[in-house]
Amino acid sequence: MLKVRCSDLPRLAKCQAAPHIQTLEIRSTSDAADIGTEVAFLNAEYRRHGTIGQPSNDEVGFLAASCRKAWDEFKHLFTEPHIEEGMSGTVTGVQLTGTPDAWSPGVVWDDKTGRIEADCLWQLMGYAWLASIAAKDHPLAEWTLVAVDARTGSYRTWKKSEIDIYNELRNLFIKIVDWQDKYSTGDHCYFCPVAHACPAQMALVKSTAATLLPDVIQTVNALPPAKCVDLYRQMNMLEKRISEAKAALKLRVTTTGALAADDGMELAIVEESRDEIDALKAWPVLTAYLKEAELAGCVKILKGALMSAVADKAERGQKKAAKENLMVEIEAIGAVETSKIEKMVLRKKEGAK
Ligand code: SF4
Repeated sequence: MLKVRCSDLPRLAKCQAAPHIQTLEIRSTSDAADIGTEVAFLNAEYRRHGTIGQPSNDEVGFLAASCRKAWDEFKHLFTEPHIEEGMSGTVTGVQLTGTPDAWSPGVVWDDKTGRIEADCLWQLMGYAWLASIAAKDHPLAEWTLVAVDARTGSYRTWKKSEIDIYNELRNLFIKIVDWQDKYSTGDHCYFCPVAHACPAQMALVKSTAATLLPDVIQTVNALPPAKCVDLYRQMNMLEKRISEAKAALKLRVTTTGALAADDGMELAIVEESRDEIDALKAWPVLTAYLKEAELAGCVKILKGALMSAVADKAERGQKKAAKENLMVEIEAIGAVETSKIEKMVLRKKEGAK
């Protein structure tokens, strides 16, 4: 029986090879994934008990607050809310598992701390299908699927009939089960848990490394624009492979001890400690040592945390205005300095479908 997670469905809709590659799955962690996990935990606590937990950093606080706002708007749809409950179901030789952020008969909900891609519909359909099995006492004609973009507070909704959901998933599962040695590479490979053992990826990694062997500046300048974009994508994969290999090395050194080279050097794990100062507890002591202006030079105010704190204090319906008013007031006294940075991003071209 092939095992598939709902969160894998958008990738599997593009390439059906992964469940057939027999290897250890590496689900890489990243800062973004850790943030997503913490936001999901805070959101679940809020939806279950109405409690607003303490975020570990500014960004998490901002994202969780944004999801709370969207939830407050939609929660009336959740007549029997099921929060973060793991589910599973089997069809056409595939066992599907998934844990939606929230569902109730007729509606499923997913918070996205990354961008909402159109293909996240596959993941939501997977959740809806599992929820429809769990809600079999409530025969339903239609499901509402909601994806919330925690970065902007916006959301996308889709309406899908239960029969369409079942048929679309069933067709995809047939393609997965009947897979015929065909690999489709692309951006979706970045999160593929078996990319390290995928023959198509190995070929790409080799050809990317070969492209980078001659003078890289000449190579990059000679490439046509579309090939530069391809190279950028492939270099991202190469970088990922390198960080996976570094993580594997670190694990080995942690497990077996330092690894010695022939030149007197060794790879070893060292411990570094960093002090974090609790501002509230330290405040009376700090102000005894430093004047206001001196202390201000040591303090950095995080805009996201400030906005969350102001929003949390404001009445319902007044939160946006409270944040805007604060910004207007502090800008008027010259307390806001805006700097610009330039970065290279891979984005959708304006007007492209
Ligand atoms: S790495 Fe890409 S091509 Fe290979 S199995 Fe995964 S999704 Fe398919």
